[in-house]
Parts: sequence; C-alpha cells; structure tokens
Amino acid sequence: MTGAPDSCGRSINYLRVSVTDRCNLRCTYCMPSSGVPLIPRSNILSYEEILSVVRATTEAGINKIRLTGGEPLVRAALPELVGMLSQVPGMEEVSLTTNGVLLRRYALELKQAGLSRVNVSLDTLKAGRFRDITRLGELGTVLDGIEAAKDAGLHPVKINVVVIRGVNDDEVLDFARLTIDQEWHVRFIERMPFNGEVDFIPAAELQKLMGSLGKLEPRMPPTGNGPAAYYRLPGATGTIGFITPLSEPSFCSRCNRLRLSADGRLRPCLMSDDEVDLRTPLRNNAQPSELKRLVLEAVASKPERHHLKEGNATPLEIRGAGGVINSKMSQIGG
Ligand code: SAM
Ligand code: SF4
Repeated sequence: MTGAPDSCGRSINYLRVSVTDRCNLRCTYCMPSSGVPLIPRSNILSYEEILSVVRATTEAGINKIRLTGGEPLVRAALPELVGMLSQVPGMEEVSLTTNGVLLRRYALELKQAGLSRVNVSLDTLKAGRFRDITRLGELGTVLDGIEAAKDAGLHPVKINVVVIRGVNDDEVLDFARLTIDQEWHVRFIERMPFNGEVDFIPAAELQKLMGSLGKLEPRMPPTGNGPAAYYRLPGATGTIGFITPLSEPSFCSRCNRLRLSADGRLRPCLMSDDEVDLRTPLRNNAQPSELKRLVLEAVASKPERHHLKEGNATPLEIRGAGGVINSKMSQIGG
C-alpha cells in the first residue's frame, strides 16, 4: 500500500525527519546569529526511536523519508541511521537535505549506507555573499560537497535557493544558466515569513525574468516527492523548479507530507502548531500498533491549507530570551 489518505483526499506518503535542531550555519532567514534555544539532548530521539517511528509510518503507507534538521550531518554517525531506515521493509527511498558543509566528508558513506539522493541548500554563487547569508560558511566547501555527492552517485543532486529581495534576487539568472550546460537541478523557494514579516518574491516574477533566457518548458520532476513545479530552458540538461507555498493558492492541495521533529513531535503541517507527541509513547514502550494509530491520527488531522498570507505568520515564530524568533524551520525540520 502506498500513501495514507487524509480527510482532504490527499495521499500522504512522505515523512521529513529532523534528526537534530543543531546547525553549523546561522542563515539569516532561518535563525538569529546567536542560534535558537536548543532542545535538551535527552529529549532528542535516539536512532532506535526514529526507527520505531519510521516502521510505524511505513506500516501506515508512508514509504519515503527525507532526513533534515537543523543540519542533519552534524549528528554523529548519520550514515548508520540511513542504513537502518533504508532496510525497513517497504521503504522506497531515503534522501537528505543538507547545507553541504560536511557533504564531501560523508557523501560516499551515505551512498553506501543506502541514501538515494541529496538536496543542497545554496542561496548564492558569490563567496562574500555566502558568508553574509550563512554567517559562518565557506562557499567553496559547499560547491566541493556538491561535486562529491555527484561523484558518489547521489543522483540527482537538487539545489535549493531561497530567493530574498535585495539579497540574492540578482543571481536568479546565474542559477538558471547553470542548468543549461550542466546537469544542475535548481529549485527556487519562496521565503517563508521571518519575524512576522511576509516578504517573498512570487515565482511568477522569477519566471518572467527567465524569459530572457528562453521559454520555460514544463518538465516532469527529475525524481521527487514534493509540491515543486519543474521546467527546462530550451535544450538545457538540468531543470528549474519553483516551490510556491505563498504565491500559489493550490500549493497545499499537493502536499503529501508529515514532519517529525527532533524531539518526537509529529506535525501534519509546518505552518500549524497541531502536533502528535510520539516521544512519550515511545519511551513508555508503546506497541507498534499504537504508534501506527497515532501516525494515522496525525494524517487525519492534516489541515486543508495554511493561512500565512492572511497574516497568520505566528506559527513560524516562538518567543525566546531575545524576543520573537523563527526557530521552527531548524527545530521541526524545514
Ligand atoms: N540545514 C539543512 C539545509 O539548510 O539544507 C536542512 C534544514 S533547513 C531548515 C531546510 C530548508 O529550509 C533549507 O533549504 C532552507 O533554505 C529552508 N529554509 C529555512 N528557513 C526558510 C525560510 N524562512 N523560508 C524558506 N525556506 C527556508
Ligand atoms: Fe542551518 Fe539549514 Fe537553517 Fe541554514 S537553513 S541555519 S543551514 S538549518
């Protein structure tokens, strides 16, 4: 069986698992320079606990997993977890979203452990700007990591670009050009509200800009599970995708995912605070059938859509010592 049906007719077959809320970067649109209040280590699910949840979700029909964070590669022995999850009966795919900093070190090990493919977040091709956006990173390390992933056969490598007005929107054509001669799969993501401020560049604006490079032809995704829409420039080897949670009214109707936070909360929607606690039952030795029941409960409670554009940006914020901050992307797993 593939997919668990929700109450809106969607088939939920994809789980994003945040393995840690820790990160080795501090991207300006994701967290403050001081980082976010960290989840106590004792509350973070062990690999065995994650495996129990994934067995239950697979039983419920959710058979594709993406590991995320925080930065998933800062968690010790991640390839071990990949190996455990890829051997779960019925598992179709285990993939990873990473900032790429540690990718050179782990790409081959991850591939050998059963990882199918990798998405790398890269918002600029300029070294100085990369440092400004990530506050801590080196562009060369990430580009090197992308090459290592390709060499290891983690195919296709997709590049996630969050487009921010006045920060990197002047590089949209540079990213698009990369898809022409080389097999780059670049996805432009609308920025989610940070600190309550809803300011994103609609995909339609980017598509218009790309008109100068040729007519975008709709394309099937180069394998994938998400709600991105894909295109190709005439004669291009790679693809261009758009992830449009804010500008496209029907975006949520294609949502096929649940999210598991690093501390064991199963969230039907990134933008809603509703969640099902799995850590408590896991630590009380819940039977697999009970975990499966809780997974199906989360699927059934998945909301029809988010309400970010109506000004309801609070779900992406929490109050920390320093005031209101966006911590959900790194804590729940963006
Ligand atoms: N650290 C890994 C990374 O950066 O790829 C995985 C976790 S990160 C939270 C997952 C994705 O969320 C990244 O592609 C990142 O660019 C995206 N993201 C973070 N904050 C965002 C925001 N405010 N709007 C849109 N995307 C965001
Ligand atoms: Fe870390 Fe990813 Fe957030 Fe950047 S986007 S701070 S790499 S979790």
